[in-house]
Amino acid sequence: MTATAITRTGKHSTAYLQLPGGWFHNNAGWITGENRTLLVDTCATESRSRALLEAARGPAPGTTLTAVLTHAHGDHSHGARQVVEHGGAVHAANSAVEEIHDGPHTYPELFEYADWGSIDPPEHITPVTGPTTIELGETHAEIHPVPTRAHTDGDLVIHHPDDGVLFTGDLLFHGVTPLALHGSIGGWIEALDWVEGFDAETLVPGHGPVITSNDSVLAQQREYLRWLLDSTTEALPDFGALEERARRGWPEWHDAERHSVNLRVAHAENRRHTPDLADAIAAMLGAAGNRIPLEL
Ligand SMILES: [Zn+2]
Repeated sequence: MTATAITRTGKHSTAYLQLPGGWFHNNAGWITGENRTLLVDTCATESRSRALLEAARGPAPGTTLTAVLTHAHGDHSHGARQVVEHGGAVHAANSAVEEIHDGPHTYPELFEYADWGSIDPPEHITPVTGPTTIELGETHAEIHPVPTRAHTDGDLVIHHPDDGVLFTGDLLFHGVTPLALHGSIGGWIEALDWVEGFDAETLVPGHGPVITSNDSVLAQQREYLRWLLDSTTEALPDFGALEERARRGWPEWHDAERHSVNLRVAHAENRRHTPDLADAIAAMLGAAGNRIPLEL
């Protein structure tokens, strides 16, 4: 069962969590000033995005709405159309804009689910090409493109310096296995070092509970990504044995079938090959036992 939790992370900022944060149960949030509400991400289905927008707009109905999508994955971006229908503008990284316009991506070969609602992308999404300050009235937020290919090749983080909050998108997973299907594991490790440079007191991950600067979530995830690369240097690794080691090493993480895909992506990265995504997805289906049913 998923539970939605709305958590204030400061005077202006709020995290919107869909816990425990498995497949398509992403986090979002908003930062509100005197005259603008900055929405961070949307949700996977039309109805979930509508609920998010209602929650975000409730406390500040008169403000202008601007949304920033941390990356192109559908759980974070499928509600872009709803934002536009609510009179808002949508921003995303350059390559994420292209990816979103190619969608919506629902991967029916992998997931058993049909009730997405109206999730076709809106006609216009503004590309973010560099660090951008968004004035909210009395306070501001900053959009920072991630300097490396990391979780995807078009990741953004949103920083609210006054509240000491960083919305990391899927650069961080908390209690959930990270997914490296569309990214670069080496680049992701570098991006985690970059995230630490913000020195934020509060980190809102893409999935799972809010993280404080005292938590070891970031260090744990870096250790896992490093392990993926270090354990797949052989020409023909024993992926089955490695998957078992990953399940034992990080037993508390949800969606353990992702280890199979992550190990194959790491192996391709070590061999300087482009990962065979069809092969990686087939391995994940094998690890999951069947198509993955979604409860959205
Ligand atoms: Zn993602």
